[in-house]
Parts: sequence; structure tokens; C-alpha cells
Amino acid sequence: MAMQHHKHSRSTKQRQVILEEIRKVFTHPTADEVYEMVRCRLPRISLGTVYRNLEMLATHGLIQKVDTSGTQRRFDGNPTPHYHIRCMGCGKVDDIPGKAIHSMDDVVKELSDYEILGHRLEFRGLCPQCRSDSRRNRQPFATGESDGPQPPARGPVATTT
Ligand SMILES: [Zn+2]
Ligand SMILES: [Zn+2]
Repeated sequence: MAMQHHKHSRSTKQRQVILEEIRKVFTHPTADEVYEMVRCRLPRISLGTVYRNLEMLATHGLIQKVDTSGTQRRFDGNPTPHYHIRCMGCGKVDDIPGKAIHSMDDVVKELSDYEILGHRLEFRGLCPQCRSDSRRNRQPFATGESDGPQPPARGPVATTT
């Protein structure tokens, strides 16, 4: 009995720590990243336990899963529906300020015979960091190209004979 109680309180504490840590960040971490974040407070926790707890917290609506295309599943400490933008350069996922637009569901309800239960929308772009990186890289690339060896000038290819 005592053992069971101990086990129960330990898993409750683990879940609490995971929730606290994920609510501190706005980076939408993957399960691996959450694992790294909680390890100093829970040195004996396994990645599997972290993953199970994240799933459980999401099921209970305390956090949410962020499904971004083509990447590992990410988790969000903010359970309120909101939109995300993914950087095509570095892959980071940011929040778009403001809430999800619920009237979008009504629009789609008009257009289809489905009962609409919700929607997911992902924006894609270049974050400020990647935008300034690409500006910096564009200049040398452009000059390098014009200074580089040019293909020999050739007249229009005529098909003689
Ligand atoms: Zn970026
Ligand atoms: Zn978010």
C-alpha cells in the first residue's frame, strides 16, 4: 500500500514538473526537448515517461499538441486555441498573437455537409533572424555569380545541314 502511494505521488510530481516547465517556454518544444528541460529536476525520468505525460496532459486539455507539417510533434504549454507560424528557414514555430478565428468554422459549415468540430491552420514564413541572414547572404552570392566564369558567348544554335 505504502509503495503504491509513493509511486502515485511520484508520477503526479513528474507530471506537475513537466507542466511547469513547458509553460515557461514559448518555443513549442518536442518531447526530446521537454525531456532535456525537465532532467535537472527529474534526473531519473525516461523519455518514454515524458512522452506519456505530455500525451496525458494534452488529453486533459492542459497543454496542446502542435502538428506542424514534416517535423516532429511539438507541444504547447498554452492550451488556448491559437495559430502558429513555422519558419521555412530554421524550422522554429512561433505563436501568432490573438485567438483562433472561430467564424472560419461557420464559413466551412456553409460550404460543406460536415459537422465542423474545429480547424487547424499553419502559416509558413521566414523569421526575422532568417530574413536578415538571407539578406546578408544574398549580396556576396550575387556578386560572386557575376564575377565568376561566364559561359562562352555563342550565337543562336543553328541546325545546319
Ligand atoms: Zn528562421
Ligand atoms: Zn503556441
